[in-house]
Amino acid sequence: MSEENHPLPRTALVTGAGRGIGRAIAERLSADGMRLICVSKSPDSCGAAAEAIREAGGDAESLPLDVSDGTAVANACEQLLSSETQVDVLVNNAGITRDNLLFRMKEDEWNDVLQTNLTSCFHWIKGLARPMTQRRWGRIVNISSVVGVTGNAGQANYAAAKAGMIGLTKSLAKEFAARSVTVNVVAPGFVETDMTSGLDERIKDAALKFIPMKRFGQPNDIASLTSYLCSEDANYVTGKVFTVDGGMVI
Ligand code: NAP
Repeated sequence: MSEENHPLPRTALVTGAGRGIGRAIAERLSADGMRLICVSKSPDSCGAAAEAIREAGGDAESLPLDVSDGTAVANACEQLLSSETQVDVLVNNAGITRDNLLFRMKEDEWNDVLQTNLTSCFHWIKGLARPMTQRRWGRIVNISSVVGVTGNAGQANYAAAKAGMIGLTKSLAKEFAARSVTVNVVAPGFVETDMTSGLDERIKDAALKFIPMKRFGQPNDIASLTSYLCSEDANYVTGKVFTVDGGMVI
């Protein structure tokens, strides 16, 4: 189908949409008029997110699966495409931390973080991007982290995965550019979600010292830029890394 015949509204698949940043992105894209496919590990989590979107008048379904399982992701993509669900927008947001200093880091901690945060992006993009290139329209946003730009002691696995997302994004932006499929990174700073709520108060106080705006970010701060990058307006923006961090990394 050519892009001129595209049946609006567009459909967006957001991973990690059950909570935190991913949920804010899913709700924002729904408010922008998109149909949503909300992915998370737990059925309850993405189920509640999809239900909240429907209650607010949007159109959403849930898709529970473990994004670190490449076969599960490939099968889900195949099922979506064979059911003629057209995915126009992909937001790779699901992520975990398993922090440790390198000498204490177990191979499992390295592998889990790389599989969940980085390899999952490879599988989702491989599964969903071809029809976008054929239709000559698509948006892919990968949610990385400022840590992928700066590095962080105690987070070698997480920083490597998040930096890997940047290399993946820049390469695919070049591969897909001629087909009008954009690929960008949003790299949040410290955002108040379940991921950061358990951190020691001393770590939070220390982090705050490096934030010129003197406050932590909120999920909506990330959702609003993601919304722009997924919009028709952003059609000439690709291969870029946007930090959203209250001025921390300039
Ligand atoms: P969060 O509150 O912990 O939520 C993480 C979401 O990812 C949940 O919905 C979770 O599913 C899902 N998820 C985790 N592992 C998964 C897996 N294997 N399969 C499927 N879904 C999985 O995290 P957040 O703070 O919103 O972070 C979202 C993204 O932003 C992450 O990539 C994170 O690295 C990045 N980020 C966050 C911050 C921050 O300060 N919060 C800063 C920079 C970057 P369930 O709900 O089912 O558990």
